Amino acid sequence: MKTNGFSTTILHSDRRSGVEHGGVHKPLHPSTEYAFADARELAAVFQGKSGFTYARQGTPTTAALEQKVTQMEGGVSSVSFSTGMAALTATFFTLLKKGDHLISSQYIFGNTNSLFGTLSELGVDVTLVDATDVEQVKAARRKETRMVFTETIANPGTQIADLKGVGQWCEQEGLVYVVDNTLSSPWLCRGIDFKASLVVNSLSKYIGGHGNALGGMVTETGLFDWSVYPNIADAYRKGKPTMWGLTQIKKKGLRDMGATLGSDAAHRLAVGAETLSLRMDRACGNALALAQYLDSHDKVSKVMYPGLPAHPQHQRAADYFNGRFGALLSVELVSEIDVFDFLNRLKVLVLATHLGDTRTLVLPVAHTIYYEMGPEKRALMGIGDNMLRVSVGIEDTQDLLSDFDQALLP
Ligand SMILES: *Cc1c(COP(=O)(O)O)cnc(C)c1O
Repeated sequence: MKTNGFSTTILHSDRRSGVEHGGVHKPLHPSTEYAFADARELAAVFQGKSGFTYARQGTPTTAALEQKVTQMEGGVSSVSFSTGMAALTATFFTLLKKGDHLISSQYIFGNTNSLFGTLSELGVDVTLVDATDVEQVKAARRKETRMVFTETIANPGTQIADLKGVGQWCEQEGLVYVVDNTLSSPWLCRGIDFKASLVVNSLSKYIGGHGNALGGMVTETGLFDWSVYPNIADAYRKGKPTMWGLTQIKKKGLRDMGATLGSDAAHRLAVGAETLSLRMDRACGNALALAQYLDSHDKVSKVMYPGLPAHPQHQRAADYFNGRFGALLSVELVSEIDVFDFLNRLKVLVLATHLGDTRTLVLPVAHTIYYEMGPEKRALMGIGDNMLRVSVGIEDTQDLLSDFDQALLP
């Protein structure tokens, strides 16, 4: 199926799947409902044949985006959601039941961590482990364990789980392995190469890349045999067993729960996705240059970036990410510097949350996304008051270095 390279495939995927009126770019389909000329065809689509009925379950615009991400991930099929969190919620809440056990990396997105709290209240036990060490994942195994969850590069600490080791073990144990590929994006690595069963991407970050639309995606890699998984409803035990998981996520998560991606956002995300490799290469290059510069600066006490040889998983990152090290870094300024005064001196970097934008964004972590946690838990996680998270964009490298330089040495 994949006859071209990554970018060629994405750029030509709309055209190759049949265009309307010869339009080279996919048109936007805002229609809520889809009509049929033949009543039998209408019934067939309701009974499982592929097609469109009501936009809560998708439109030609979301389908085109789903196809693009499926190709990026080398998977078999994808389902889009209104946000990355909606994609994660649909995955956990439709595939896990009361009494089940989930093992997750402890280095995960804060809102995913909070979502696990809700999951626990509904009777799914969640154990958090240091997944940079596969032995800790194995040690958490119980007979009720059904699923293992990791992210590729953790935010804000940039830890990298033993993705290959965990994938091999999940395959051997018959466990569903869910990988959140948001921080690396499918341009640096694909979930299927770590033997993931399902891959989640927040499209709001690098894939969309322009800070103008939210979206999420779940991709089925086709590696997991769902016929051995007890939580698939009878209605979805039809067709190829490698597709049952995603069918259930789509039916329960999208049709029943309703966190649908709108056509307008899907269209923006699809346009953004076309330049993923270009933007990512540039942002990763900028991030490496910035990390090296800051690492040797005497006003900076610590830099966390997988591209630095001192990073605990540097070798693993070099092995996994195709010579790139991501576009997110965290920096601890020396204690003499007032972090707020420093931030106020910046002229190019933008004081904003979010990541994966074309612009470089910076955030004081302890005072914002980790504020609710309190000082004791922050200390335990190694999050100091002078720690900054930097989501590196695609600006000219020298402008980013100069901005840090002038703000560090007033
Ligand atoms: C941002 C993020 C999400 C959530 O995505 P939204 O589209 O903002 O809901 C999930 N996982 C990771 C790793 C993220 O960085």
